Amino acid sequence: MLDNSTLATLQQLCGKENVLTDKADLICYSYDATQRQFLPDVVVHPATVEEISQIMKLANEKAIPVFPRGAGTGFTGGSVPVSGGIVLGLTRFDKILEIDEDNLVATIEPGVVTEEFQKTVEKVGLFYPPDPASLKVSTMGGNVAECAGGPRCVKYGVTKDYILGLEIVTPTGDILRTGGPTMKGVVGYDLTKLICGSEGTLAIITKIIVKLLPKPAAKKTMLVMFSSIDGAAQAVSDIIRGKIIPTTLEFLDARTLECVRNATDLDVPEAAQAVLLIEVDGDPEFLDKQTGRISDIVQPLGVVETRIAETPAESEALWQIRRSVSASLRRVNPKKYNEDICVPRSKVHDMIRKIDQISEKYNIPIVNFGHAGDGNIHVNIMIDDKIPGEEKKAEEAIADVFKGALELGGTMSGEHGVGIMKAPFINLELKDTVVDYMKTIKRALDPNNILNPGKIFPSDK
Ligand SMILES: Cc1cc2nc3c(=O)[nH]c(=O)nc-3n(C[C@H](O)[C@H](O)[C@H](O)COP(=O)(O)OP(=O)(O)OC[C@H]3O[C@@H](n4cnc5c(N)ncnc54)[C@H](O)[C@@H]3O)c2cc1C
Repeated sequence: MLDNSTLATLQQLCGKENVLTDKADLICYSYDATQRQFLPDVVVHPATVEEISQIMKLANEKAIPVFPRGAGTGFTGGSVPVSGGIVLGLTRFDKILEIDEDNLVATIEPGVVTEEFQKTVEKVGLFYPPDPASLKVSTMGGNVAECAGGPRCVKYGVTKDYILGLEIVTPTGDILRTGGPTMKGVVGYDLTKLICGSEGTLAIITKIIVKLLPKPAAKKTMLVMFSSIDGAAQAVSDIIRGKIIPTTLEFLDARTLECVRNATDLDVPEAAQAVLLIEVDGDPEFLDKQTGRISDIVQPLGVVETRIAETPAESEALWQIRRSVSASLRRVNPKKYNEDICVPRSKVHDMIRKIDQISEKYNIPIVNFGHAGDGNIHVNIMIDDKIPGEEKKAEEAIADVFKGALELGGTMSGEHGVGIMKAPFINLELKDTVVDYMKTIKRALDPNNILNPGKIFPSDK
């Protein structure tokens, strides 16, 4: 519980209406997409960087933990207030401050919703590629803090590739600027890249300078259905080996397709045991050539059916199958565990084999889909939590999945981060010396360990 004087100071700083203490309000900010729940003592919605600076100074003085929060769509518990304290809501920072068409750079606040930003720049012929599937809700601040990815990242890269500079509030309350609007800049350490992906543990992001691209003239979507996962996995390798980098190269396995069939009325033939959703973009003439080459490559690999969209509406219909996956899986199993390992793209096939073996070993269905083009597989462990011991088994299966990815030269997380969910496993991937190096940075910048404690490093809990 916070003392009354702290609450009064927060109210003076941000206005009474922006300081929430009712239990019903606190519950709304107690969880994210992991559904792990921890109640904060207070939720504060500041409106200026100076207010955040004052809050951090107060929090340091009184040793109160502070948990930055965007839209709360995180998949690893990054925003949840594991030790009470203050949830710092950043959704009032919701302005697109500038779109500089001369330099293809935008300056925005962190509470801007990802899709709103994309649509706004597209109106002037520009393009912001990173597209997490949560983009209708997620904030740009959350995207930067997690270095979010998405389907288009196979061609265009992830969030950090588009962040040129930041305004931040440090854990001790200083206001700093890192980087700037230039395409190059090598003076001192690259603090922008350090903050990007730091999961709200090193700084609060209050302004973001974003690099933009010209919007591609056109795009073409194709959905290829395979009679087996082997054919689809081989197709991923062969497309990349054929030196084609599509804009997206998404895959859905047989169990995922079964969930989609059960939960929706979308047309997915029974014979399809795996699907690749492939999109290419660029000049219209180039697109036909690319889809033609892709069709040639995949054809010998057990193709059941290929659908190529000729209109935006048809493209939307093909995407609908991919977009319905998360909701379909949750409908079938609301308690599923969702991991997001990433392996070298040529190893997707080997990883799927390993996951099948793990599924058999623990007798738990595992459903796979994801961004095959960059080797990023969403591994969904479908536990039945009514069966005693099932959660423990799932955790062992997750550890095996992580070990399997690491054996293939991969990583435990391609895009969702560590948060609280992967913190117990971090030593599987990172050597002690590396974890110590990271912790040295954290300790130096946040000596009282008040900014998002309990995340990334398990021993900080
Ligand atoms: C259905 C669904 C699909 C998803 N698909 C994808 C996907 O395709 N790719 C992907 O990468 N992720 C995906 N995610 C995960 C999630 O949406 C992303 O991690 C996203 O970037 C989180 O944004 P948010 O605004 O919800 O952040 P939150 O969940 O609120 O916070 C996430 C982290 O960022 C920190 N944070 C938030 N704002 C700030 C700030 N201004 N300053 C400092 N730290 C801050 C928080 O402390 C926390 O550690 C998906 C999630 C869901 C539910």
